[in-house]
Amino acid sequence: MKIPKKRDNDYSTEAIQARLRFLSKHAGYKLNSLGSSDMDPGLTQGNIENIIGFSQVPVGLIGPLKINGEHAKGNFFVPMSTTEGALISSYNRGARVVSLSGGVNVVITKDSIQRAPYFVLENVFKAREFVEWLANNFERVKKVAESTTSHGKLLGYETFVQGRIVYVRFSYSTGDAMGMNMVTRATQEACKYIGQQFPLNGFAIESNMAVDKKPAYLNTIQGRGKTVTAEVLFKKRIISRFLHTTARKIDQAYHRQASGAQMAGAMGSNGHVANGVAAMFLACGQDMANVSESCVGHIYTEVIKDDLYVSLQIPSLVVGTVGGGVSLPTQRECLEILGCYGEGKVRKFTEIVAGTVLAGEISLAAAIVAGDFVTAHEQLGRNRPQE
Ligand code: NAP
Repeated sequence: MKIPKKRDNDYSTEAIQARLRFLSKHAGYKLNSLGSSDMDPGLTQGNIENIIGFSQVPVGLIGPLKINGEHAKGNFFVPMSTTEGALISSYNRGARVVSLSGGVNVVITKDSIQRAPYFVLENVFKAREFVEWLANNFERVKKVAESTTSHGKLLGYETFVQGRIVYVRFSYSTGDAMGMNMVTRATQEACKYIGQQFPLNGFAIESNMAVDKKPAYLNTIQGRGKTVTAEVLFKKRIISRFLHTTARKIDQAYHRQASGAQMAGAMGSNGHVANGVAAMFLACGQDMANVSESCVGHIYTEVIKDDLYVSLQIPSLVVGTVGGGVSLPTQRECLEILGCYGEGKVRKFTEIVAGTVLAGEISLAAAIVAGDFVTAHEQLGRNRPQE
């Protein structure tokens, strides 16, 4: 049994229908929805293979959300894609209280993406020699890597030595692209050049130390993609009127939750950063697997008089506004809603994601403290199976 393919055009409606007929037979279930989208499947070349249709996930809207960033300034309506009832309402409530509090201040503090090959040497002495050689020849390696791209720049690297294996973690800036294809190609050329210049027993393009699509303390501490931080000072009267609680109660809950997260060995301490990140990634054509490192977030709170200061740090937010899935029709539309499609927009998009996530944090924390958490989900988010 083989998945049907059309040699001349595997992205045609006929190719899709042939696979759906094959699958309907195989699953014993008539597949009416997968192939029913208006989207032109031809547009997905470069994004998918063996296409059988489109996953149609609903998109909701929150806003306006006031953002005072260095790149995102003003009020934004934010598209978010999810199947989790109550999520949009919660983020919308958060956006309202953030905006009424004067908006969310956001800055990006680091920006780079990594690829980390490993090199095999003869023994530990050669491994040390190799590390020294790399330090003395970095400018030549950088030139080779950068010859493959007009946007990628090799900013630096770190080495980690384990016996005769040397892990080299290259860090690049990648313009408006998230950059993994770009830096993989650049690193491959760099590795080939290194292999021509220094006697190696072998190398591989990736060692797992990048660390792409995996949550890791290295990403959390050193950053990967964008490291971004956001803050809001919520006024006492806003907390009372719209969140039905107090600054002190939310602050106390966050401290208790931080202890819980620490006891659980969680990476970061936050309510549901993953919800906001995943919903925006899905709507806006980001690589969903990067949610795994992008959803680590650290919340800090402080009561100032009777107001509540909340800040959020996301150490490894991996996003792009060029390349990957951003040019697909609905994904592009969602980025256009934010004014974030294409060149010169990735920092603005980063700030909007961070601001949105912080809005979701305050809403969830308040719901837990004020006792609305279960009722909101019962009203908006239950989907018991129907006959
Ligand atoms: P890409 O779609 O492969 O390439 C985008 C290209 O756009 C860049 O290489 C760049 O060309 C060009 N470009 C034009 N204007 C640009 C601008 N303003 N800023 C930056 N680049 C600009 O995108 P990518 O971001 O490198 O890779 C993302 C994709 O990689 C995602 O689909 C992701 O799923 C996938 N991915 C790949 C790997 C891997 O190991 N290869 C791993 C994880 C994910 P120049 O380079 O010529 O300048």
